[in-house]
Amino acid sequence: MLRLRAAGTEAGLEAVGVTSAEPFVEAREAIEARKARDFHGGMWFTYGRPERSTDPRRLLPEANSIVVGALGYHRQTDGVPHDGGGLVARYAWEPFYDQLRAALEAMAVVLVDEGHEAVVVLDDNRMVDRAAAYRAGLGWFAKNTNILLGELGSWFVLGSVLTDAELPPSTAPMADGCGSCTRCQIACPTAALDEAGVLDARRCLAWLVQADGAFPPDHRVALGGRLYGCDDCQSVCPPNVKRIRSTPSTALSPGAVTSVDLVGLLLSDDDALMDRHGSWYIPRRRAEYLRRNALVALGNVGPAADPGPRSAVQVSLSSPHAVVRAHAVWAAKRLGHDDLLALVADDDDEDVIDELNRSVEPMLVR
Ligand code: SF4
Ligand code: SF4
Repeated sequence: MLRLRAAGTEAGLEAVGVTSAEPFVEAREAIEARKARDFHGGMWFTYGRPERSTDPRRLLPEANSIVVGALGYHRQTDGVPHDGGGLVARYAWEPFYDQLRAALEAMAVVLVDEGHEAVVVLDDNRMVDRAAAYRAGLGWFAKNTNILLGELGSWFVLGSVLTDAELPPSTAPMADGCGSCTRCQIACPTAALDEAGVLDARRCLAWLVQADGAFPPDHRVALGGRLYGCDDCQSVCPPNVKRIRSTPSTALSPGAVTSVDLVGLLLSDDDALMDRHGSWYIPRRRAEYLRRNALVALGNVGPAADPGPRSAVQVSLSSPHAVVRAHAVWAAKRLGHDDLLALVADDDDEDVIDELNRSVEPMLVR
């Protein structure tokens, strides 16, 4: 076990724990209960097949143990420029899942060397990674639905190595440490955490930017300048705040993407967009959904008086994709460029017509 742990930590893991490969019964019950209440919002990654994702032996029938690893993604941000407003959540700033995979594979090599089977699983709807981390004693299920690793905070991506090796479980699950704190619930801009520890995915901005279809009108203004993901319920969390203040954090890698110029994005062609951002979860792997998100963000941050946002909206109103034209209508109204709507006056798509008929509060002109 020492060799295993050392392989993981040398490869960058901040925490390693072990649990059995028994099914995650409570996690399955929680998923089924939230599904019954329609909290999934179409989030099939988590809710699709709980009978499979909560039974590790569906992945490795001989599995006896799960080794869980947590890779930290908090990075130093002093002096990081924000490039044109399209904010990217921290977990997507760098290819952290690639780094996590490498670290998990380093542990798998140790297990295979010792004659065992080992299957690496991460960012995969075949495994409930947070339930595994909880049972392996890495942290508790926090009110913001993340695993909170005590003083280490929650800026972590999680993954597992399933193995037939019989490893001693590391420790009992960690007791809840949120106590009476409700900061994450208060900070959530869409009230997606009104019930502590239960995410209403229909309201969660981090999910809505990855969901298919129109961006829900009621949550467009709350998206603000976010393009991909949302950090609010973690940014306010006391262990995360304390850690940022007290621990020297790793510098950003040169290729890190912390924000994206919204105008530049909307004026780029689809191939360029997917080349740059294809590793993100974009509905149906189609660039028009990234444009949809960018148009909502642009309608919130503008600036309305600048020629760039106006050009981006104008180009988007002529898009061959109705989802882009529909959200461009919303952005045009938000930015006070109603004169551009003549471009879609004869549009016969129902979604575009709905947007033309929608009452939209213009943003405050800056
Ligand atoms: Fe709310 Fe954002 Fe957290 Fe989702 S990610 S629960 S929208 S604060
Ligand atoms: Fe728990 Fe408070 Fe952090 Fe929310 S903000 S996860 S309640 S410690």
